[in-house]
Amino acid sequence: MEEVEALRRAGAIASQVRDRAVDLVKPGVSLLDICEELERWIGELGGKPAFPCNIDVDHVAAHYTPSITERGIIPEDSLVKIDIGVHVDGYIADTAVTICLNPELEYLVEAAREALEEAIATIRAGVRASEVGAAIEGAMKRLGAKPIRNLTGHKVSRYVLHAGRVIPNVSSLLERHRLEVGEVYAVEPFSVPRDADGVVVDGPPSNIYIYRKKRSVGGLAKRMLKYIQAEYRGLPFASRWVLRIFPGSEGLEAFEELLSAGCLYSYPQLLERSGAPVAQAEHTVIVTREGCEVTTA
Ligand code: MN
Ligand code: MN
Repeated sequence: MEEVEALRRAGAIASQVRDRAVDLVKPGVSLLDICEELERWIGELGGKPAFPCNIDVDHVAAHYTPSITERGIIPEDSLVKIDIGVHVDGYIADTAVTICLNPELEYLVEAAREALEEAIATIRAGVRASEVGAAIEGAMKRLGAKPIRNLTGHKVSRYVLHAGRVIPNVSSLLERHRLEVGEVYAVEPFSVPRDADGVVVDGPPSNIYIYRKKRSVGGLAKRMLKYIQAEYRGLPFASRWVLRIFPGSEGLEAFEELLSAGCLYSYPQLLERSGAPVAQAEHTVIVTREGCEVTTA
């Protein structure tokens, strides 16, 4: 089946890029350089980014990518999540890894990784999403951590990163739906210390955007919006990608016009409410009758 082939190719690219990312993350290295390098590798390997490379430090749990003028660097003793999305013809792989520069926080990385492994071991057609969440919560507790309860894994479909159904990271009574053969899910436990809130709240803008709706704009803004629709096809994108194609103050003004006209949605960063360090692990799987195929292994 072509679809499965494209999912596998996307998964293989995402997995290679994720593994190479680990060597780039060192104190003092530029966040912008890391993300641009990883996005370049995705292209070299024959994929396209399904979303901007996310680089989330310490209590930033998710949804940060550098701006075009970013000056930030990897801090000493930090906990760094790298989240990679790749698509091949719209078929998406979503995977993440945590690099720990503080030995005292290594248990959080281990908790996220182990929770992900145990979650994947429970997945097969007919299993309820809540059972997968229970496996995640159980593994985290055993390892002295706890999951962030308002972040979830998610179903993925062609050109749609969050396709409705979710996989909770706790034994939620709400997510009783059963997984079906052929469905694609990203599974992504986030761990925090036991005494943390274990909840994320919205923070400042992330530099990640998504097309929302068409509004009457003219001139350069109109051309920019057409480009965004054609190029990203409803997937999230980085402002820096667009501002490289439409450079200078004209480009910046057109981008701001699209934002104020409501054509684009700006994602907030997701911050752990109590300021606690967060680790994450993520794989994308295809549900089968007997289990699942991990495309990003
Ligand atoms: Mn991800
Ligand atoms: Mn995801």
